[in-house]
Amino acid sequence: MHGGFHPKSSTLRLYASRKEGGRGLVSVIATIRDETSKIHKYIKDKAPTDDVLSDCLRQWRTEDEMLEEGPSWEDKPLHGMYHRNITEVADLNTSYQWLERAGLKDNTEALILAAQEQALSTRATEAQIYHTRQDPRCRLCKEAPETVQHITAGCKMLAGKAYMERHNQVAGIVYRNICAEYGLETPRSKWETPPKVVEKERAKILWDFQIQTDRMVMANQPDIVVVDKEQRKAVVVDVAIPSDGNIRKKEHEKLEKYQGLREELEKAWKVKATVVPVVIGALGAVTPKLEEWLQQIPGITSDISVQKSAVLGTARIQRRTLKLPGLW
Ligand SMILES: [Zn+2]
Repeated sequence: MHGGFHPKSSTLRLYASRKEGGRGLVSVIATIRDETSKIHKYIKDKAPTDDVLSDCLRQWRTEDEMLEEGPSWEDKPLHGMYHRNITEVADLNTSYQWLERAGLKDNTEALILAAQEQALSTRATEAQIYHTRQDPRCRLCKEAPETVQHITAGCKMLAGKAYMERHNQVAGIVYRNICAEYGLETPRSKWETPPKVVEKERAKILWDFQIQTDRMVMANQPDIVVVDKEQRKAVVVDVAIPSDGNIRKKEHEKLEKYQGLREELEKAWKVKATVVPVVIGALGAVTPKLEEWLQQIPGITSDISVQKSAVLGTARIQRRTLKLPGLW
């Protein structure tokens, strides 16, 4: 009724703990199981000194098999596919921490989890899973099957504006934290595009600035460059929100991409330069290294803040693109 649970979402996941990526509801079955085993233990402890209870224990033994565990959402072919996909590339605890720490509205949380579970009605799922006569191709680009993955991180029609907006929101958080660190003026609203250059005695910050170098380098326009003039250090930051299975590859790609620029900056500006990728999966997955990367950026940027921003951006894209009825 309030959009807190998508009708096609995993009911098993409803009862998994939030730490493990579930919704954290207490199930009647689990409660009965828990109480039963407690009573069981009590009877076992007291049976040696009580005839009635020892008789009772004899009867219980035959019912033991009833306490078996049921199936888990992670093993389900469709509902658990995302979880299995990110298991190898992501830090699972951090990837699901937004469930406990981001304080999202119930219906936004339900939307993100439904997307992870392929439970959202995209044209590809309608055609391939429900076998309707729907054209499975993306309604925007008509080039690829319209899957959740395509809508959230793979559609070229969304790249220029929708993905850019989500990307800039995340990069903006990092940018404002850097400004705060050096006492520089921060953009008033989070929707305001930062100026290309801000500079004070201690630091200079470039936003999406094309840097001229002596030697031609392929990539010379990272999202953010911070130059700490006192410490003679420069940090090149580049943000990406790829499809969740690609986070590790993307991190590596960003790191490689800016090595040329890093060398040129060291030569031209006489600073020690580092490249820092900030990569978050469109549905929240992060690699075990994210926190380490964030610590290399001046100012304090928490992993949950950028992760929350990325996930909210994805929710917005899904709502708009799939024209979800009502809350979804
Ligand atoms: Zn498309």
